[in-house]
Amino acid sequence: MLNVPSQSFPAPRSQQRVASGGRSKVPLKQGRSLMDWIRLTKSGKDLTGLKGRLIEVTEEELKKHNKKDDCWICIRGFVYNVSPYMEYHPGGEDELMRAAGSDGTELFDQNLTLLLRLECGGAVSSRCNLFLPGSSDSPASAIQVHRWVNYESMLKECLVGRMAIKPAVLKDYREEENKVLNGMLPKSQVTDTLAKEGPSYPSYDWFQTNSLVTIAIYTKQKDINLDSIIVDHQDDSFRAETIIKDFLYLIHIGLSHEVQEDFSVRVVESVGKIEIVLKKKENTSWDFLGHPLENHNSLIPRKDAEDTYMKNSYIRKNINQRRETFIFTFSPNVVGLYYRKCQLISKENVTHDTRLFCLMLPPSTHLQVPIGQHVYLKLPITGTEIVKPYTPVSGSLLSEFKEPVLPNNKYIYFLIKIYHTGLFTPELDRLQIGDFVSVSSPEGNFKISKFQELEDLFLLAAGTGFTPMVKILNYALTDIPSLRKVKLMFFNKTEDDIIWRSQLEKLAFKDKRLDVEFVLSAPVSEWNGKQGHISPALLSEFLKRNLDKSKVLVCICGPVPFTEQGVRLLQDLNFSKNEIHSFTA
Ligand code: FAD
Ligand code: NAD
Repeated sequence: MLNVPSQSFPAPRSQQRVASGGRSKVPLKQGRSLMDWIRLTKSGKDLTGLKGRLIEVTEEELKKHNKKDDCWICIRGFVYNVSPYMEYHPGGEDELMRAAGSDGTELFDQNLTLLLRLECGGAVSSRCNLFLPGSSDSPASAIQVHRWVNYESMLKECLVGRMAIKPAVLKDYREEENKVLNGMLPKSQVTDTLAKEGPSYPSYDWFQTNSLVTIAIYTKQKDINLDSIIVDHQDDSFRAETIIKDFLYLIHIGLSHEVQEDFSVRVVESVGKIEIVLKKKENTSWDFLGHPLENHNSLIPRKDAEDTYMKNSYIRKNINQRRETFIFTFSPNVVGLYYRKCQLISKENVTHDTRLFCLMLPPSTHLQVPIGQHVYLKLPITGTEIVKPYTPVSGSLLSEFKEPVLPNNKYIYFLIKIYHTGLFTPELDRLQIGDFVSVSSPEGNFKISKFQELEDLFLLAAGTGFTPMVKILNYALTDIPSLRKVKLMFFNKTEDDIIWRSQLEKLAFKDKRLDVEFVLSAPVSEWNGKQGHISPALLSEFLKRNLDKSKVLVCICGPVPFTEQGVRLLQDLNFSKNEIHSFTA
């Protein structure tokens, strides 16, 4: 990926710089206002010089277009000819020229961050989060949105095409649009267009019997399991995302014939093969599997989505310490996450403000959220789709608390705290049994390999930061033979806030490897347990290794200041980076 030095961006005199009295602007020439630009883009003039064609741009080609009158910039894998836009850019030509002939993604993201600081001015109204460029009731109509924020629509007419290989490696499915899939693509077609970095190139094949169609995915990786594959089919559209390390391999096909709703998924771990067995609606022989749909047979870097979220979370932190709302327009990669509608099956109170929600996946979906990963829930709120991240949990810590436990491959549980003054959770809480909420594919960077040979596991959780610890606890106590000790320190304000307290106590009673310590920051005077906030004294006493050289993992999750402070304290206590996993998203 090409990098543009961004430290000095935006240019000292550019619009994005926050000067003491406001922002500095580069004066635009007459006839070069935002409205003039919009008029030009709608005039039908060929702004790319490519007569409407979209091309694949190599790095070498991109580098050649580095002059003012021939300036191409790559943003998130898409290349724009920004020369016609130069005079309309409020930050000035020099600012755009910083990214000439190279990847301007980082520069764009910085710019967005600064813009938000600027537009929201630090003291944020809740509407800042609802900012949706172009929507009439959004702050976009009240404040002038920087051009680059809405760059996709601003620069739509300047789109030259996609980067051929880097930074996002997408198979050019367009060339195949008119073809049908009659089995495995010739190897050269598959491999030529896939990443030259990352995992070995995956591929797929299909075969049939009278009643079944099997789609086989060859991941060429050994650490593949049922969590690694997400399948959705709706009408004739079939979609299978395979998570292969930090990549996602997508099969996306319009099936040639109808299939039944349910299907099965098998994984042959030893060879990294996944088989999805579809049941034909009619027992006829299929001549071909179907036609390729968007991004079919692509290997897409997953990390992008996480990075985008990290950047958003950075933005959030700067503009608003508390809210964590995603608006699609801000996060193209999050837009790319696939959502399916899940039905609310049950909702029960766990504490005075925390509920256990059980959602049922559609029968035509296979999705198992890996340990330590989260999904996004999406709901329309006053006409805007709002998404927030949540970490699925198991239905309980102990089976006796939930009999019978529903099969976990069809149901997803969430422990969600309802903030009565919050944006998303009150709406979620208003859902009735039988209502639907959209659930995304999983995200997150927690790797189960962290548990290999693990001896001591320490969990530091605050409030709903307990959620990732639920599956970790279940997994650690049942699947890690080397494990000697698990210690959970659970920080809450009051006793009433402790999620699943009695389950935790029972589990600790049953399994002597588990110790649980509750720490309250606002206890009643009768509380005789630990109290206070996370501190060196609390941690140094709690985090005792079993043996000097035992393999240790410390997981930490909670409010951002809690997690940040905790990580600093852990480092002071000489825990290495590899021994700490913080859930920050
Ligand atoms: P928000 O609108 O974000 O408000 C939250 C609180 O802050 C409210 O009390 C509100 O009044 C206050 N507030 C908001 N803005 C301001 C402001 N400007 N000034 C002062 N106060 C303000 N939560 C769970 O319950 N369960 C989970 O499993 C879970 N998993 C998560 C996983 C990840 C990766 C992350 C990042 C977060 C997770 N969260 C989880 C938190 C969740 O995403 C939401 O942040 C949370 O549900 C609050 O959403 P909300 O829209 O209802 O509240
Ligand atoms: P809360 O406000 O009830 O606080 C719980 C405890 O956290 C407090 O008792 C205190 O010990 C500690 N704490 C709170 N603020 C602190 C501060 N400023 N400095 C040090 N310690 C502090 O917590 P909550 O309302 O349940 O919030 C849970 C948080 O966890 C949310 O911010 C949520 O986004 C986050 N969360 C993150 C993930 C994730 O990243 N994967 C998952 C779940 C929850």
